[in-house]
Amino acid sequence: MVDYVNIFMARLQAKNPGETEFHQAVQEVVESLALVLDRHPEYRSAKILERMVEPERLIMFRVPWMDDQGEIQVNRGYRIEMNSAIGPYKGGLRFHPSVNLGILKFLAFEQVFKNSLTTLPIGGGKGGSDFDPKGKSNNEVMRFCQSFMTELFRHIGPDTDVPAGDIGVGGREIGYLFGQYKRLRNEFTGVLTGKGLNWGGSLIRPEATGYGCVYFCAEMLTTRNQTLEGKTCLVSGSGNVSQYTIEKILQLGGKVVTVSDSDGYIYDDEGIDVRKLEFIMDLKNVKRGRIKNYAEKYKNAVYVPVDRSKDYNPLWDHKADCAFPSATQNEINAKDAKNLLKNGVYVVGEGANMPTHFEGVRLFLDSKILYAPGKAANAGGVAVSGLEMAQNSMRMPWTKQEVDKRLSIIMKSIHATCVECAERFGTPGNYVNGANIGGFLKVADAMMDQGLV
Ligand code: NDP
Repeated sequence: MVDYVNIFMARLQAKNPGETEFHQAVQEVVESLALVLDRHPEYRSAKILERMVEPERLIMFRVPWMDDQGEIQVNRGYRIEMNSAIGPYKGGLRFHPSVNLGILKFLAFEQVFKNSLTTLPIGGGKGGSDFDPKGKSNNEVMRFCQSFMTELFRHIGPDTDVPAGDIGVGGREIGYLFGQYKRLRNEFTGVLTGKGLNWGGSLIRPEATGYGCVYFCAEMLTTRNQTLEGKTCLVSGSGNVSQYTIEKILQLGGKVVTVSDSDGYIYDDEGIDVRKLEFIMDLKNVKRGRIKNYAEKYKNAVYVPVDRSKDYNPLWDHKADCAFPSATQNEINAKDAKNLLKNGVYVVGEGANMPTHFEGVRLFLDSKILYAPGKAANAGGVAVSGLEMAQNSMRMPWTKQEVDKRLSIIMKSIHATCVECAERFGTPGNYVNGANIGGFLKVADAMMDQGLV
């Protein structure tokens, strides 16, 4: 089986050169699935895995737009329709200058497994652009979104492909994208999720990824007869996922001492309380300011700017019980993972996608801490997106309590699937194997049923 994994990975790397994040995401999954393929040669002979790493469709397009100075700008747009075996493609759009094919393919690939875990009928996709909304006026963001959708609209639809937000794509961007889709198609449908509440959005969607991640970690803690009450938590990022992760940790009695953006992080030993969280939400969602402004307002907090000469991130080098990486991929390297373990962290809940580098994952698994990979821990966002689709189809909104209850049930079910699959395949307590195997089986069986397509 080691041979199979090596040969598989060598072929994948040769066929997809330079796509390092995609290689990393696939490698982790293939290692877990070796356990399954050993017992189920039928998946191997049907080349299920070989098919799953090849997108069903990949769309790349020019996005021209005009800035406020009248200059023409050109960005690149992408949509990766990865796998539709169990439902329409679904996954976010990321607007960030670092966006490239390899990053979006890793995200689309992981999305297939994550969506399968949610128990809902949704396939996997991902998309975005190298456009940077930071520092742009609302008008510039609108013109970009309209140009982006002017190409994308012909490829998506409520029963085909339903994008949502991700880094750089929040409520504002979804609004502009939806407006242009509706104008071009002349139809009001649930083609995007994360919509505004008064035009088809679901209550709890903005909160869902962060809340879901905390629910998942609380569920892991119950396996050790513990709760989040009184636990000290490190959180990275200060965007959508981080904000609602912090909110839920506070509701469950935990203490949060860090928050960050791409320029630096703050350490607040008194803890970020509800009032300070309101300040962060206003700073990031309305004023679109930088996290260093937090330390200007709350004098006890220390601001540490990013130092690229360091081979570790000092945010992860504080005494704590739990860590919630919620910014971006590969934000925890091997040294960071060692620092976390040294400082007593024994719960890691990945709000971000693939925030831990491969060697860091190994260290977490070897140390037998409660480590929840992003595929499972941050699936709450797409789960409530799935619930938004259901409400749109019924043309009937659910209450906040109803959606939150369903989210909590889904996160418990994902947890149970991870635990059960990890055990069944001989690696109890390994949530990475549990999530990869649990996500895989449903999609693989659907692909077997549907023939060679
Ligand atoms: P946001 O754009 O709302 O926030 C992202 C945060 O991470 C910002 O604070 C940003 O700082 C920081 N960040 C982004 N890129 C980098 C970088 N290269 N280095 C350091 N910091 C960075 O995005 P979300 O909160 O929506 O997404 C965060 C993570 O969660 C991503 O990995 C995303 O894929 C994942 N995720 C999101 C879901 C959702 O529902 N939104 C669902 C599941 C996963 P700055 O403002 O300076 O750029």
